[in-house]
Amino acid sequence: MNEMSRAVTEVATVKLLIDGKFVESRSTQWRDVVNPATQVVLARVPMATRDEVDAAVAAAQAAFKSWRKTPIGTRARIFLKYQQLIREHMAELAALLTAEQGKTLPDAEGDVFRGLEVVEHAASIGNLQLGELANNVASGVDTYTLLQPLGVCAGITPFNFPAMIPLWMFPMAIATGNTFVLKPSEQDPMVTMRLVELALEAGVPKGVLNVVHGGEEVVNALCDHPDIKALSFVGSTKVGTHVYHRASLAGKRVQCMMGAKNHAVVLADANKEQTLNALAGAAFGAAGQRCMAASTLVLVGEAQAWIPELVAKAKTLCVNAGHEPGTDVGPLISCAARERVEGYIESGVQQGATLELDGRKPHVAGYENGNFVGPTIFSGVKPGMRIYDEEIFGPVLVILSADSLDDAIALINANPNGNGTAIFTQSGAAARRFQDDIDVGQVGINLPIPVPVPLFSFTGSRASKLGDLGPYGKQVVLFYTQTKTVTQRWFDDDTLHVGVNTTISLK
Ligand code: NAD
Repeated sequence: MNEMSRAVTEVATVKLLIDGKFVESRSTQWRDVVNPATQVVLARVPMATRDEVDAAVAAAQAAFKSWRKTPIGTRARIFLKYQQLIREHMAELAALLTAEQGKTLPDAEGDVFRGLEVVEHAASIGNLQLGELANNVASGVDTYTLLQPLGVCAGITPFNFPAMIPLWMFPMAIATGNTFVLKPSEQDPMVTMRLVELALEAGVPKGVLNVVHGGEEVVNALCDHPDIKALSFVGSTKVGTHVYHRASLAGKRVQCMMGAKNHAVVLADANKEQTLNALAGAAFGAAGQRCMAASTLVLVGEAQAWIPELVAKAKTLCVNAGHEPGTDVGPLISCAARERVEGYIESGVQQGATLELDGRKPHVAGYENGNFVGPTIFSGVKPGMRIYDEEIFGPVLVILSADSLDDAIALINANPNGNGTAIFTQSGAAARRFQDDIDVGQVGINLPIPVPVPLFSFTGSRASKLGDLGPYGKQVVLFYTQTKTVTQRWFDDDTLHVGVNTTISLK
């Protein structure tokens, strides 16, 4: 055996989960899971075969028969146990996440924690899945609703939150009585798999949760599969739009949470120090690979003079491997992502924007092969430039200027994306006008990344979202259930004589 083949065979393989068993794929197509700071291959992940996808769906279909009838308390207690297990394994999960995704350890813990909040919410499913009852809608007649599970549901997740986003999906789908097939990102599936192992340890029965790996072909197979009733997707607008149409055509209920270009508006009366800190964190944290990153800054009026201070703040951020203490900005997920972001920076220069801070090719001692791009800032950016029109998904902040709040609102509403936005001001009246007139799903007021906690639902407007209901919170209970309305009357032997009724009225 030569060095190369030994290295390949010694690398761990990521397993499929089918009917309660972690199994090796029979696929002939595999790809490497790579540490983005070092290029060390951590594992190999299969592109599952069609038969494996079918087996996962069949296992979920079989498990649904009994799972749908499982008492609420039994379902809820699994998630009570699960949240405890996630807490106990937090450090291990964060380390795994950082190794394969690149984000800093504290941010990796945040990724797990934001998913954990959804697991905690799933544990209160008894309250969330209550129907409604109206007594005496006609004489002796009551009407009530049942929120019944749909059957097999599926989820397709992106690379940037490999803990949080799978946890947005399968806990609530399963808690509401469905069974699930998850397709994690093929770029960083390892932390997702560890979370899946813990879900089984918490008591999720065999077949209720299944996992297949892969890319386009597996996603298309899930979109087309006749036994999948609902499909949840989080990822880019291009892929999400394709998934939405393909799965809708196949008769599924579909929700797609997609790409972004999140604008932060700064008025000159804002608290300057707090605002600049918030902006630097929200633009460059997670190397800009957040769907809610504040990637676009609109400085209104005199706030345009703040650029040098923002640049100075960005320069203080430490670019390094995510597991190194003190790191602010880790590597991008892949070499291809680094090249794409560097290409955008070059296009900004070519199209006439002012490069205030150039983060290309930073020297990161000990990690010379990492996919690093440091904080980068452009001013003088205008619609029509690629760095404004397209999602960069890297640590690049583009700055535009506006004469008034109305101009800023008009600019944002003209952008196709509507995922998140924020305003920084000390004026309640300005903030209120912004919240009313802006057509964006998540709005922050003096908060740069307003991702809602699961008491609410994540949402999105325009090109950032397809489908009506969001991926967690109250809306997802409706997404994963079918409302059945029951109208009932019981006859006492001698009290009620309704006679023949040939009208539509209840009597
Ligand atoms: P992506 O669209 O490339 O991949 C998402 C999923 O789709 C992955 O599981 C991938 O395997 C699959 N996929 C990739 N190409 C495909 C194809 N051609 N056909 C079918 N399936 C395919 O997204 P990504 O790069 O992993 O994640 C980053 C994107 O996700 C960004 O655009 C970001 O804004 C978005 N995102 C959105 C939200 C939100 O809630 N709105 C949250 C996180 C990320």
